[in-house]
Amino acid sequence: MRLSRYFLPTLKETPSEAEIVSHRLMLRAGLIRQHASGIYSWLPLGLRVLRAIEQVVREEQDAAGAQEILMPTIQSAELWRESGRYDDYGKEMLRIVDRHERDMLYGPTHEEVVTDIFRKNIKSYKDLPKNLYQIHWKFRDEVRPRFGVMRGREFLMKDAYSFDLDAEAARRAYYRMFVAYLRTFRRLGLKAIPMAADTGPIGGKLSHEFIILADTGESAVFCHRALLDKDVPANVDYDGALEPIFDEWTSLYAATDEKHGPDHGVPEGELISARGIEVGHIFSFGTKYSTPMGATVTAQDGSTVPVYMGSYGIGVSRLVGAIIEASHDDAGIIWPDSVAPFQVGLINLKVGDAETDAVVADLEARLRAAGVSVLFDDTDDRPGAKFATMDLIGLPWQVIVGPKGVARGVVELKRRATGEREELSVESALARLS
Ligand code: ATP
Ligand code: MG
Ligand code: MG
Ligand code: MG
Repeated sequence: MRLSRYFLPTLKETPSEAEIVSHRLMLRAGLIRQHASGIYSWLPLGLRVLRAIEQVVREEQDAAGAQEILMPTIQSAELWRESGRYDDYGKEMLRIVDRHERDMLYGPTHEEVVTDIFRKNIKSYKDLPKNLYQIHWKFRDEVRPRFGVMRGREFLMKDAYSFDLDAEAARRAYYRMFVAYLRTFRRLGLKAIPMAADTGPIGGKLSHEFIILADTGESAVFCHRALLDKDVPANVDYDGALEPIFDEWTSLYAATDEKHGPDHGVPEGELISARGIEVGHIFSFGTKYSTPMGATVTAQDGSTVPVYMGSYGIGVSRLVGAIIEASHDDAGIIWPDSVAPFQVGLINLKVGDAETDAVVADLEARLRAAGVSVLFDDTDDRPGAKFATMDLIGLPWQVIVGPKGVARGVVELKRRATGEREELSVESALARLS
């Protein structure tokens, strides 16, 4: 992609409406623009990051045995009356009336819809277990939308729903998601800590929030220091025993403030008390929805039993902000390789200089052929402005090509995260990047 043609409206000034660094950088780097309170448009660079995060989430959900579906954003109130949540959900639910005076709503979550799909299509224990997920927009009319996409009203969520014959199988489904979450967040470059959590309006008993520590987080959290250095399982067999992994992580104390109490048993000096951002939340809630909604299956012995369910959310759009909170410096964003909108920013310091242009064109073509995504700054801005833009948008690598280097047969390679610069031949630079 050529920067001269790319829609990248960067801002030099710090937007005054943004209170936290990730929101400021998302506006300055041209990732998003606000449409209305808590409602955003995603511009090309931001959308590439959102899609990259989605893809990591999707791969790990698929690996854990979940299957992707897509449910409607607009739901019928009827289903929520069946589950009993229509009146309980309160003002966070955006309620809509259609032309026939039917009560509709913009889905804040999808337990009811997915339970309806299940009950109409699955009748036997032989079809279990199932885990269905989607990556789709939700609407919650938050009292205080703020911090940009961190607390939006319209936001992108991955929500998965598991269905099992009994409590024990449901627990295994929970472990699969627990482990998939550990792996997902680690691939996104984050240290997300699973913490014992309250279940809130979703209901149920077993529940963990996945929290990343950040001063700008909205939750007060407490955890054992050792959780920060724990390794995430590499090659997981999702059909094997996952309880040891779950036990290993949950045997160390970690709780959000709703669950935190004086009997935590962590030695002083080992207990971290911090702020955290909730990036994921998993629940096991048994038959809370299947019983009132009549989602039953025939068991081995011929009896009819309500199915055991769980639900598992990841805040995909919130993650864009959360990753920036965890990874930036004074100059701008520092994307982890796994979610970078482009891997390489290619800077031509002297557009119009025939030799420099030729080296850059060759590099661009060969990087593209090697499958490396490149944003090529072919504008005639001054070098200082080009460096500032590249640092702001935070691509993992910069390749800087100018006439002086070209005369000596070298280009400059800069790693955004460390600021390390190195002069290399074109061949060596290519070898490094592909
Ligand atoms: P919060 O405590 O931040 O209000 P929640 O507990 O209400 O979140 P869940 O119902 O657990 O949210 O939804 C699953 C995930 O969706 C959350 O862990 C979070 O990452 C994301 N999420 C929830 N509300 C928002 C929002 N308003 N904007 C962006 N992401 C959100
Ligand atoms: Mg909420
Ligand atoms: Mg919460
Ligand atoms: Mg939650």
